[in-house]
Amino acid sequence: MVKIRDVEAFVIDLPLERPFLMASRAITRQTEIIVRIHTDEGVTGVGSAHGAPLGQVAEIIAKELGPLIVGEDPRNVEHLWQGMFRTTCTPRTQTSATTGASLPKGAGRPQVMAAIGGIDIALWDIVGQLYEQPLWRLFGGIRTRIPTYATGGYYTEDGDDTGLADEFAGYVEQGFREVKLKAGRFSPEHDYQRAAVVREAIGPDVALYVDVSQGWNVWDAVRAGRLYESLDVAWYEEPVHWYDDISGLAQVARQVQIPLTSGESEFTKQGVRDLILNGHIAITNFDCTKAGGFTEGRKIAALAETHNVRFAPHHAAHIHAHLVAGVPNGMNVELHPDPVRDPLWERMFAERPVVDQGELVLGETPGLGFVLDESALSQLATHVR
Ligand SMILES: [Mg+2]
Repeated sequence: MVKIRDVEAFVIDLPLERPFLMASRAITRQTEIIVRIHTDEGVTGVGSAHGAPLGQVAEIIAKELGPLIVGEDPRNVEHLWQGMFRTTCTPRTQTSATTGASLPKGAGRPQVMAAIGGIDIALWDIVGQLYEQPLWRLFGGIRTRIPTYATGGYYTEDGDDTGLADEFAGYVEQGFREVKLKAGRFSPEHDYQRAAVVREAIGPDVALYVDVSQGWNVWDAVRAGRLYESLDVAWYEEPVHWYDDISGLAQVARQVQIPLTSGESEFTKQGVRDLILNGHIAITNFDCTKAGGFTEGRKIAALAETHNVRFAPHHAAHIHAHLVAGVPNGMNVELHPDPVRDPLWERMFAERPVVDQGELVLGETPGLGFVLDESALSQLATHVR
């Protein structure tokens, strides 16, 4: 039997050269929690978690959930997932029977779900290595070239949009056949004009997506959506505010003829289920690194398939590509080709998946198949164990 020996976390919190503005917030740092799980047979798995506060999620990984699974067989992933998930239903005052530890004071379920996500992904990496197969094959093995889309078009602090056309024409030149533009910060008319500039720059054959990041109320979302229809927008992401993301989405779905995308703000399959059944989404961009890992993501992909909803996970292309490769409704993965927006994509890897003509190419290396740059990691990351 293989046994888990140690679970550690590394926190990366890198300031960006300039802020990238979305609907209602600015991205000023790139953050990442790397999970590393060691086994007694020398196999090490790597996972990735996205959550906040960073230090709290890392502590949950290394000091709370880690000890729960040390000594266990890493191949029993669902069993381990269920054990970790049970802590979300445990009263905060109650100590864990296994470790004598309680979850950190003030830690909420989102932090625990992010921690489970990072650990679960690292466990799957171990499973792939032990069975000597890449994860895309263990997940179903449908394809090895995964379409990617380029996300850009963030707002600038002074509202200057003059770089928009060049930015998106550049993505098409790099080989991208799908692009995504940020929206929702200003009025529907203003943001429609931005999309019109982008459509003009990319031509009629490149797929154009719009991400509102929950920036509008239902009236504005419907108004903007109808304008976007004339630009052949093919995905309309999180068009309404967070507090109305079920009934509000359904209202938009009734009145706008663009497939709705949502899921990145959910923490469970039950949340995505409700978006599908009652919000009438056509695409889900659930993020396995933000909550639940591959184990939850696989169930969401199957649930989505059952309802003819496509699966296009948010962010972390090097991780999510494996899952998209293995499911029939797998659609694409997201990249931020601007190195100022995503410096870690340039700096974090010793061996990284190849992107060729807008497609991410998966290989035969067992597990996740990428290699982190150890010197970059020791330079950029704080070790929590
Ligand atoms: Mg989004």
